[in-house]
Amino acid sequence: MMAALQAAWRGVPVTLFDANPGLGRKLLVTGSGRCNLTNQGIAPDRYVCDQPELLARLFARFGREDLIHTLEKIGILVHPTPDGWYYPCSESAATVVDAFAAALVQAGVELRMESRVTGLQHSRAGFILQVGEAEWICNSLVVAAGGQAYPTLGSRGDLYPQLERLGHTLRPAHPALAPVVADVRSFHKLQGVRLDAVAQIWQAKTLLGQTTGNLIFTQWGFNGPAVMDLSHLVSTRAGKNLTLVLNLLPGEMELRLRQLLAQKRREPIPLRVLLGAVLPPKVPAWVLAAANPLAEVNPETMESNMVPGLYLAGETLDVIGPCGGFNLQFAFSSGAAAGLGCRVRA
Ligand SMILES: Cc1cc2nc3c(=O)[nH]c(=O)nc-3n(C[C@H](O)[C@H](O)[C@H](O)COP(=O)(O)OP(=O)(O)OC[C@H]3O[C@@H](n4cnc5c(N)ncnc54)[C@H](O)[C@@H]3O)c2cc1C
Repeated sequence: MMAALQAAWRGVPVTLFDANPGLGRKLLVTGSGRCNLTNQGIAPDRYVCDQPELLARLFARFGREDLIHTLEKIGILVHPTPDGWYYPCSESAATVVDAFAAALVQAGVELRMESRVTGLQHSRAGFILQVGEAEWICNSLVVAAGGQAYPTLGSRGDLYPQLERLGHTLRPAHPALAPVVADVRSFHKLQGVRLDAVAQIWQAKTLLGQTTGNLIFTQWGFNGPAVMDLSHLVSTRAGKNLTLVLNLLPGEMELRLRQLLAQKRREPIPLRVLLGAVLPPKVPAWVLAAANPLAEVNPETMESNMVPGLYLAGETLDVIGPCGGFNLQFAFSSGAAAGLGCRVRA
């Protein structure tokens, strides 16, 4: 639609073929119906691409500001969220599609919907398109037929073989921007939790990629931008043993929690409550359970985080040292800390 519009604005006669009955079918579902149009952080190195320097040239030709300007020109105002994601002010993908449709008609683009291109040839006469029973000839051809994601919305990759016949390289298609299926048995209590996280994918000792973004715990794995942006690293390594490492306290959250703990450690506020200051419900209880009993005491006073005034020391706790005095050292240290830490009533 953008290509058709730009060409038509230059005075080129344009015909747009789309197999779908309506324009911008996929655009309608983007950003959960809100259409996340661009981002403050657009930069070549943010893309998975063999040659990012080519993207630098593309963005110099038509970058974020050009897009925003063009959108305004056809009646779409955009605004960024605090983290730099741009959406239409209407918060509606439907208004974006509507504006494109109106602009295309206004610019004189001939719209041919429900017109699947089934054949593509190049001859001296130009490009010959097979659309149903009819053949169309044109001098220039823009193929923007999508990838293979979400085929019910129109793009099935059916023009890839035609492009290969014209001399282009066809690479094996792998899912990307998809949820990540993982062994989440130990996370089952976190199903439905949604939070911002740092996600890393590791293969043995090699860090394959890292992102920061929204993460959703599901029944079968993880969803949300944090893992979707890493999913191509998984889909291109079928059968490999990969590890997903999550930091649920991204950015300044870890620092804020540390400060809060330092301030409140001596007060009888359960650790669960303090963790709840920066983590969504369900997560604090899960973290404490996963961290084993030792996290249930304050390591400086050995006071229980569950029961104010209760102190635990020595082998009562889940701490096992190797032979060689380690266990006594722990017993003495924890006993001393408890003795020094326990509050005495005046
Ligand atoms: C659920 C979902 C949400 C998304 N959300 C976002 C988001 O918020 N922000 C973002 O930046 N990206 C998002 N994306 C990705 C984004 O939608 C795509 O990158 C983008 O739509 C690609 O545009 P395109 O024009 O190349 O292909 P498409 O949008 O897929 O359009 C291709 C068109 O070609 C037509 N077509 C295909 N084959 C033929 C044929 N043989 N003959 C005639 N017509 C044909 C199809 O009918 C279709 O209309 C999302 C994707 C999905 C699946």
